[in-house]
Amino acid sequence: MNYENERNIVLNACREMVKGNLTVGSWGNISIKCHDGNIAITPSGTNYEKSKPEDMVITDINGSVIEGKLAPSSERLMHYAIYKKRPDVNAIVHTHSVYSSVLSVTDDKIPPITEDTAMILGNGVNVSEYAITGTQELADKVVKGLDTNNATIMKNHGAVTVGSDMERAVIAAQVLEKSAHIFILAKLCGKVNVLPEKDVKELRNMSEGYLNQWKNWK
Ligand SMILES: [Zn+2]
Repeated sequence: MNYENERNIVLNACREMVKGNLTVGSWGNISIKCHDGNIAITPSGTNYEKSKPEDMVITDINGSVIEGKLAPSSERLMHYAIYKKRPDVNAIVHTHSVYSSVLSVTDDKIPPITEDTAMILGNGVNVSEYAITGTQELADKVVKGLDTNNATIMKNHGAVTVGSDMERAVIAAQVLEKSAHIFILAKLCGKVNVLPEKDVKELRNMSEGYLNQWKNWK
């Protein structure tokens, strides 16, 4: 089976994650659901700037390696648990970005504060409960925290975003980090005004149009 396309998509998203300062070193990991239902996922503990497409590991949805010389990400159980629970999800981005991580430490949910937060992240972002990295317990807690949304902050750890494709999962990661940054600064200023609920719904419905415009700008 040829997974060249999916491997390239995962590696390019990794480079975007590093370039956008959404993670440092090899922390953070990314996966995509392939055309045949298998998963292309980042390898464990490698430098994404130096990685090649063939370093991305192909596994089935239970973690058995189908193709690849390297070990799949140590946080892979979380990816499989999300795909099993959410058939609408085809790509997952897990970051250790700074401002989302601050909220993971203070255990603060992000409310819908700006139009891009509402469009891309809906009615705010929950903080999932803590469990140690790489465990099924953490995977289950992240699935619960994510619920039907496309982002969750992972308590004392980082963040996860998902999408129907990689572009949407990466944009969600970028908007999440920007929203976390704004929320923290607003709290430091001593006042946080939240968007009205009816406007959040309307903005959410407008998001697909904006995402299509985004594609045209690239
Ligand atoms: Zn992590």
